Amino acid sequence: MLNIYDAIPEGLLDREATDLHEVLPGPSLIHLEGRHKEPLFISLLLHGNEVTGWQAMRSILQKYQDMLLPRAVYLFIGNVQAAKEGLRYLEGQPDYNRIWKAGGEGPEAVMIRQLMEIVAQQKPFASIDLHNNSGRNPHYACINRLDKRFMYLASLFSRTVVYFIKPDTVQSMAFADLCPSVTIECGRPGESHGVEHAVQYIDACLHLTDFPEHEVASHDVDLFHTVAIVKVPSHLSVGLPGEVADICLPSELDQLNFCELQPGAVLGSVAQQTVGTGFLATDESGQDISERYFEIEGSHIQTRLPVMPSMLTLDKTIIKQDCLCYLMERLDTGHIT
Ligand SMILES: [Zn+2]
Repeated sequence: MLNIYDAIPEGLLDREATDLHEVLPGPSLIHLEGRHKEPLFISLLLHGNEVTGWQAMRSILQKYQDMLLPRAVYLFIGNVQAAKEGLRYLEGQPDYNRIWKAGGEGPEAVMIRQLMEIVAQQKPFASIDLHNNSGRNPHYACINRLDKRFMYLASLFSRTVVYFIKPDTVQSMAFADLCPSVTIECGRPGESHGVEHAVQYIDACLHLTDFPEHEVASHDVDLFHTVAIVKVPSHLSVGLPGEVADICLPSELDQLNFCELQPGAVLGSVAQQTVGTGFLATDESGQDISERYFEIEGSHIQTRLPVMPSMLTLDKTIIKQDCLCYLMERLDTGHIT
């Protein structure tokens, strides 16, 4: 399933994300030489509709077309077929950012094993996974280790850093065993400043020769820890204002991303009072902690504790396929080793 190249395939750089399938038959790993041999691993389009990563990488590759890269690169272009349709993933496919845990089954898991084996042999220097959000969010980086090298890699992109360990099936988690790794969230697809920011970041990483010994200063980062994932229970329907559904979301909900919410903040309303806490919140071990964070007051679903949501989205497909949002709490950088 994995297509392997040791040069940029002819015509690739002329293609938008939706047209990559004309050149690449499927998920593809491209190795490019550079001055420093230990490669920077870059993955993009794990979610087919998140095109900023490709737009940025294409611009980087155009810039270095007649030059040696400062560092070797392994570029993984993920869900080419979903990108063609402008979707996160296609029906019948797994989510390409949920297939990275060792021991998985199916053709995608086999592909990831093959990829990890190839890249591990080259002793990767660092790993970057490029994504977009569907709702309004600041640009931020995610790490899965409280390690100063990971923090440094993250802080090169944004002062907002999110630490999480669930889901543990993501790309950055798999690479954390090999090298410092981050997930980069570049705002919504189609925003030009997201592309520019990603270009600057990738270029900075390509020029990084080593990780500094010192810790990232605590005043240089805002570090948050994901404490819950919030979903709409599968038996309930979700709608936007004016639609008939079990749970209705306010139209400006995604403006609350990365806002510190006080108890009593309204995140939705219920059509009838027979649906428990409305949303389903689970912690990193999968425990149902809905009642800790949510209660229904009248027809409103409101928060019970001070929390900060991220990745709140009004995209109903994403809410059903993935989640409504994550809840975070601020974390002291003193936890970093
Ligand atoms: Zn994504």
